[in-house]
Amino acid sequence: MSIEQIHKHIERLANLLRTQSRQLLADYGLQPIQLEVLRYLSVCNRYSDTVKGVTEYLGQTKGTVSQSIKVLERKGLVTKHVDSTDKRIVHLKITNNARSLLNKTVPAPLFRNADKQLKRQSANQILNALISLLRTVQKANDLKSFGVCHTCRYNQKTADGNYLCGLTKEVLSSEDIQLICKEHEDGERVFGVL
Ligand code: SF4
Repeated sequence: MSIEQIHKHIERLANLLRTQSRQLLADYGLQPIQLEVLRYLSVCNRYSDTVKGVTEYLGQTKGTVSQSIKVLERKGLVTKHVDSTDKRIVHLKITNNARSLLNKTVPAPLFRNADKQLKRQSANQILNALISLLRTVQKANDLKSFGVCHTCRYNQKTADGNYLCGLTKEVLSSEDIQLICKEHEDGERVFGVL
């Protein structure tokens, strides 16, 4: 299969997902980008849950992201929290209502309906191929990986069984290391996914 065919198939899938996303979100008065913001905030860590983190992850302008966050705040889906040590940093947290919305929309009904067939077609193989494609594209274009913390080269296991971020020198919990991070850099271990 040529790279052009890969592009066309991914573009088609993205188009189907976007169309369904628009239909599902119409009831909530939301746009697909606002769902993407919620999705990101539901899986990113405390170093990444800022307007800057969202902007970098989605590749959108700061103005577009700020507008989306205003809408999400107004609808009670996101709350803002000033950092306890650095007052210049504002963290964005999703609410329980946002989690309920995400549960209804991710995975998309399109994919849920195809779940049985996907299993037959060896879903693991498809997933591994997609991870490999994503990593290859990111590396070839020098893009940030936004990988899962436990696969990062800065992630260290301490003698007492805890985890430490070698970049920030802060302790990480077993929950923290399952989240994605804007400072992530590929380590020796297998790459993780959202
Ligand atoms: S170890 Fe890496 S991914 Fe984890 S918090 Fe530190 S920089 Fe981020």
